[in-house]
Amino acid sequence: MRTALSNPVIESEEHRALRAAVAALAKRYGREYFTAVVAAGKHTDELWQDAAKAGYLGVNLPEEYGGGGAGITELALVLEELGAAGCPLLMLVVSPAICGTVIARFGTEEQKRTWLPGLADGSRKMAFGITEPDAGSNSHRITTTARRDGTDWILNGRKIFVSGVDIAEATLIVGRTEDARTGKLKPCLFIVPREAPGFGRSPVPMELAAPEKQFELTLDDVRLPAEALVGDEDAGLLQLFAGLNPERIMTAAFALGMGRYALARAVDYARTRQVWKEPIGAHQALAHPLAQCHVELELAALMMRKAALLYDAGDDMAAGEAANMAKYAAAEAAVHTVDQAVHTLGGNGLTQEYGLASLITAARVARIAPVSREMILNFISHQSLGLPKSY
Ligand SMILES: Cc1cc2nc3c(=O)[nH]c(=O)nc-3n(C[C@H](O)[C@H](O)[C@H](O)COP(=O)(O)OP(=O)(O)OC[C@H]3O[C@@H](n4cnc5c(N)ncnc54)[C@H](O)[C@@H]3O)c2cc1C
Repeated sequence: MRTALSNPVIESEEHRALRAAVAALAKRYGREYFTAVVAAGKHTDELWQDAAKAGYLGVNLPEEYGGGGAGITELALVLEELGAAGCPLLMLVVSPAICGTVIARFGTEEQKRTWLPGLADGSRKMAFGITEPDAGSNSHRITTTARRDGTDWILNGRKIFVSGVDIAEATLIVGRTEDARTGKLKPCLFIVPREAPGFGRSPVPMELAAPEKQFELTLDDVRLPAEALVGDEDAGLLQLFAGLNPERIMTAAFALGMGRYALARAVDYARTRQVWKEPIGAHQALAHPLAQCHVELELAALMMRKAALLYDAGDDMAAGEAANMAKYAAAEAAVHTVDQAVHTLGGNGLTQEYGLASLITAARVARIAPVSREMILNFISHQSLGLPKSY
């Protein structure tokens, strides 16, 4: 199922070529590969490496550090096409999009030289940990605390649902500094190596068919050198937000890819499956909901494009609203499309052979993470509409 964005009036020749090249690579792997990897408890290393060799994984990172010198627009396009072929790479959301962006924009020269080439060529991955068991959607309530000890930092706290910590060399942890002068806590970001003493992880058993696992993390007096702090201790919030817009745009791409994949499977099936005199796709009770899903996916794709363009143009404020809207629209479109696709296949919608049922939970992830549907509606009602807050 091609996206209408691949039209030459809407999308540049370069973007269409990138889209076609990623789609061709992803098609060589396909859903069968992804499903086999999940069943074997492995990771999508072969696809990751091939995508890395082609320069897709770091397409958004600066050229001087080994990246492609393009933007989130291009990275989102890569993720969308991988997903549309049934094999999304979730770590793209975290490693080059959040961590790569934050380090490229706010990291020290040393951090850029240490991390960006590896994130760009895919040889290194970085996870991102902000969610805490007792804070959840309310990130202002996080309690992971960094205190100074000479020039070192000592981190204590807990994180939950952090993806890919086992396959990432380090995790970008969002904590707060203890501010001795005011007693207030400020958000700040630290690169915590996977094997740092005191940094524990245990997998959260999830009902998700995905190669990436989620982890509960414990930070128990984790000692880090001064250079583990990303950028400026006093610009924490700004730095954090620099990573959150790409995260939302990439989650939209993840959802869109999945929605396109599910819709294509349903349409193929509805064209050929015949139980009366016409294929089931001739019945409007099935055709119209599928058409509606196509409309919803296309609308979400346009909003994602708007958000990515604004972000790449450096308008963080406008990108924030559009990125939230894109994430909302794409997640809702994906949830609806997957549900309709499963229904279109009747009993086969729930078989392992057709592999659509596992997308029911996968699509819900985009509705919950990285920010839930309700928190986006809160943001839009307060920030865009100026309505009062209830919490
Ligand atoms: C598969 C997966 C991968 C993830 N990967 C990562 C990761 O890599 N790094 C990371 O840091 N986190 C990750 N997360 C965590 C994710 O970002 C959180 O689950 C999400 O932010 C929601 O937080 P919560 O689960 O604590 O839900 P809660 O905050 O407890 O919310 C529960 C429900 O209450 C609603 N709610 C809460 N507050 C309000 C309000 N004020 N108004 C209306 N409704 C409200 C929410 O919308 C939600 O429906 C991941 C989660 C999943 C499921």
